[in-house]
Amino acid sequence: MNSTAPVSRGEMYLRFFLARSRFSLDVDLTLPASGVTALFGPSGSGKTTLLRCIAGLEQAGIGEMRVNDEVWQSVDTFVPLERRPLACVFQEASLLPHLSVQGNLDYGRRRAGRRQCEALADGEAQRIIEMLGIGHLLARRPQGLSGGERQRVAIARALLANPRMLLMDEPLASLDQARKQEILPYLERLKAEFNGPLIYVSHATDEVARLADHLVALENGRVLHAAPLDKALADLEAPLPLGEEAGVVIQGEVSELAPEWKLARVSAGVPLWVHDRNFQVGDTLRLRVLARDVSLSLEQHKDTSILNIVPCIVEEIRDDERAGLMLVRVRLGGPGGAPLLARLTRLSVKQLWLVPGLRLWAQIKSVALVY
Ligand code: ADP
Ligand code: MG
Repeated sequence: MNSTAPVSRGEMYLRFFLARSRFSLDVDLTLPASGVTALFGPSGSGKTTLLRCIAGLEQAGIGEMRVNDEVWQSVDTFVPLERRPLACVFQEASLLPHLSVQGNLDYGRRRAGRRQCEALADGEAQRIIEMLGIGHLLARRPQGLSGGERQRVAIARALLANPRMLLMDEPLASLDQARKQEILPYLERLKAEFNGPLIYVSHATDEVARLADHLVALENGRVLHAAPLDKALADLEAPLPLGEEAGVVIQGEVSELAPEWKLARVSAGVPLWVHDRNFQVGDTLRLRVLARDVSLSLEQHKDTSILNIVPCIVEEIRDDERAGLMLVRVRLGGPGGAPLLARLTRLSVKQLWLVPGLRLWAQIKSVALVY
């Protein structure tokens, strides 16, 4: 094992080999030590096991972990869970049932010292409670709360320990779709305010598209992909098995509002119209465009209801997971533009004579705002 693997400030290095009877985890990763990194993959792919190794809940047979210049694990070092400056949130909020919400939060706050975290500044606790919208729940007992409320309390409790790293294992997986939509904005706020790295385990593409900056896709305990989210989603060399959810995320900035149409123009190399949700000029947005919602055309059709028809250039063409279909990656505007995926039939690819370098038009049927 290489115990002097380079890791610069702002990065963390993870090397774990852990063998079980029917499963082994074998990862060697350098990740950013800030922002949201999603550990993504199907059930059984090893996401929780990797998260437990990061937390120090699992001691891999071969393991090495450094965060910035701190060694958490090496040949002769193993910093135990309770001495790592991190906090965890699991799928089921493990709140203490005999304590009120306030009691549970106090418990989280008392853990700060024990976990090598600095004590929370006065006023910070109040801000965390406000950020998660749980101020009116403080006197209540956990069993009287909804699933979404319990999860928000669990997240607040984790933050009150003032961790430098936050680990979340499918925190929305036990919630129904409506509760999930309700809690996602809180996670977005958390993402904007939390300074340290947030490692977010999920098998849900929509959560990952919305929250992640960096993606680690796992399959059978191995890393299939580790890259910034926008790159990973647009990669056709080693495409993620996303099926109907194949698509890209595009960052853009609101450049113009058209209040009479309730539309906002987002500049992402090319202009894209999206529904205006009371944006202001200059807001940065993250857009998600699914490959199935993009069609390609050699001409700029004007006789269509599709608003977003943008010039692009073909970069790469690959077979899709499904027979008879292909994924085409184009660049918006030209070779240096943001990538977009289009899912087309093989026949369409042939009829249009699509080849890399061809300039044409992408018709985007739907642009989802995710941020
Ligand atoms: P995921 O979180 O991606 O669903 P896990 O990390 O929980 O995957 O599990 C990966 C594999 O390891 C699975 O095959 C699971 O059955 C197995 N596994 C998990 N925990 C244990 C354990 N304590 N002992 C033996 N096998 C385990
Ligand atoms: Mg799991």
